This record gives sequence, C-alpha cells and structure tokens, in this order.
Amino acid sequence: MNTDITSYFCADCDQNFPITITRYCCDCGQPLLLTTSQTPLIPEQIAQRAPTLWRYWEALPLADPTRIISLGEGMTPLVGDQLDSCQHWFKLDYIFPTGSYKDRGASVLLSKAYELGIDRVIEDSSGNAGAAIAAYSARANIDCIIYCPEKTSAGKLAQILSYGAKLELIPGNRNQTTQAVLSATNSIFYASHNWNPFFLSGVQTMAFEIVEQLDWSAPDAVVCPVGFGGIYLSLYLGFQKLYLQGLIKKLPRLLGVQSESCCPIFRSLANNQREITPMPVEAETLAEGIIAEQPIRSRMIKDVILKTEGAFTTVTEDEIRSGLDVLAKKGIFVEPTSAVVVSGLEHFSNRGIVQPNDLVISILTGSGLKSTETLKKIVGY
Ligand SMILES: [Zn+2]
Repeated sequence: MNTDITSYFCADCDQNFPITITRYCCDCGQPLLLTTSQTPLIPEQIAQRAPTLWRYWEALPLADPTRIISLGEGMTPLVGDQLDSCQHWFKLDYIFPTGSYKDRGASVLLSKAYELGIDRVIEDSSGNAGAAIAAYSARANIDCIIYCPEKTSAGKLAQILSYGAKLELIPGNRNQTTQAVLSATNSIFYASHNWNPFFLSGVQTMAFEIVEQLDWSAPDAVVCPVGFGGIYLSLYLGFQKLYLQGLIKKLPRLLGVQSESCCPIFRSLANNQREITPMPVEAETLAEGIIAEQPIRSRMIKDVILKTEGAFTTVTEDEIRSGLDVLAKKGIFVEPTSAVVVSGLEHFSNRGIVQPNDLVISILTGSGLKSTETLKKIVGY
C-alpha cells in the first residue's frame, strides 16, 4: 500500500498542502506537484503483473488498490522504424480505450477521485482529455462536466457525450475555455489534465513502459508533441524516478515539437528569454491538440529542458500533412497532432541533436479515428 504520498507541494515556494477537493493550485498561483513516493519499483515484481499501467503501482498515488478505476489501459506497443538518421522506435500511445494517451492520466486521476469519495468532476479540454475524463468518470460512476472550445472535432464531442458527460461548448479559443471553467472550480473537483498532478502521475507511466520495453534501459532521446507540456513533464517525472533509483544510467534528452502557429516554448528558447511568455495563435493549425498559448507549468518546462539537455522545434502545416502521409504509409493512422513528430525528428537530426547511433523514441498520442472529418479532406475524399 502506498502510504507515503499524502500531499501537494509547490516547487516554487516550497509549501505543502493536504489533498482537498477544491485546491488545484498553490496560494502563490503556481500549479502543484505531488510529494514523491519513495517506494522503489522492482523489475522482477513488475514482470509478474498484468500488462496495464497499474503494474507500476508503487509509483502511483493511490492508497487503496480496491479503488482502481481501470479499462486495462497501458503497455502500448513499441514498434521499430527504418531510418538512417537514428535507431528509431514509435511508441503507439494512441492504442488506448478512448483512443489517446490521455487514458493514462484519466485512470489515475479518477481512481484518486473515487478514493477521495468525490461525486462530481469538471475539466476543460481540446477534446482528447475530455473524452478520457468522461470515460473514466462513467466507469467510476462519477458525474462529469467537460468544457470544450466550440471548434473541437465532432468525433471527440460525440465521444464525450456518449460517455454521458455534460458538455459545455465555449466560443473563442482554447484559453477562453480554460477561463470559463475556472469559475466553476470553487466547488467542484477540477480534473484538469494540466493543473491536476494526479494526471501527470498517470502519464509518467509512459516513461516506465519505454524503459521496461527496452529491457530496463533508457533511450538516448524521446520526441513528443508539446502544447501545455503534459507528456514532456510526465516523461521527466518518470525517467527521473528510475534514474534516482538507479534503474537507468542517464536521463534521455527530451525533444519537444510545437506547431509553428502556436509555439511559445520554442520561441522563448530561440529568443533566450528567461520566462516563457504567452503567444496568441497566429493561424489555424491541424495540430489542435497542442494549441497552448500559455503553458501553465512553464517554469518547470524550462527546468526540465535544462536538466535533460532538451530541445524544441516547430513544424509547418505542410510538414504535419507530410508527417501524416509518412506514418500512414507505414501502417500508422494517427490524428494530425501526433504527426508533428515526423518532421520534428528530421529537424533534430539536421541540427545534430539526434545522432545516427542514438536510440530514439517518438510518441504517437491520438488515433486518426478522432479526426476523420479533417483527415478526409487531407486525403482528398
Ligand atoms: Zn507556491
């Protein structure tokens, strides 16, 4: 039983807080993390367990295993790819019950909500996280309200409604959706995939799986799409735990890919800014899942870039389309947001950040079946 995770803490001002229904950020306004579990992960024990993310139980913030809300999620395929630029593998993290990696966070977050006796949650999302939170809320028999931008893909909205969640469509951009939801968090548990640290805790299992699938060794680099930075930060939390425990010998370089239309992290690095400043969306982008004008955990993102010798790049709309085509010709059907990693990896190779002998993993985050309306136009149907 995990009894050593009992509180929220703020990395900015070192304050600790008990876990309560309405607290989602520090008094200083910064997002919270969880105090880290000291219980080690033991590979021989893990090997005996079912192939779900709950096999890493010791690292997950739940006290009571009877409270687990699961749809058998996790242990997604790691498949090889033929490239000259590096030894490359795809992590097919869209192979999940709701069609995106967000089930990792949703399973852990809703399990915690269930353990805390919470009967209603609220979330804002560009679609995939909303679908995941709605699905696991249904599984836990917890009422769920999801706020989405009105331009969200029809398939994602239908999915959210099918799970029985209440849907609120908000005019304007992604940021306005977040502003709309915050006023409701005074009385309802905010199941946010960006603010809620239980969500990050679930997504860190992506790092555990990669390392276990590589026979308990670390890759040289991981390439992932970045909007708010949930995957980027969660990978760090996961790899860092394994590194501190001595299970891996190094931290992989974490390489983030943003859409050229909205790339505040890339831009702040390129301009040598100390802080990541907000960047309004400059044009419509196919990569709807990584629109984040102001990543809320921007200080932690800067810190992780430093600690992992991380790097960022951006891709154009044409590059997203060609990424979709490259993946589909390899038998991989993903939503446009996921396809940013293809050209992203090329950029990192061209810049010498990825070398021919490097072992590199690219994360594929959402199924193409999420975006059939958009993809239909791209293939000219
Ligand atoms: Zn604080």
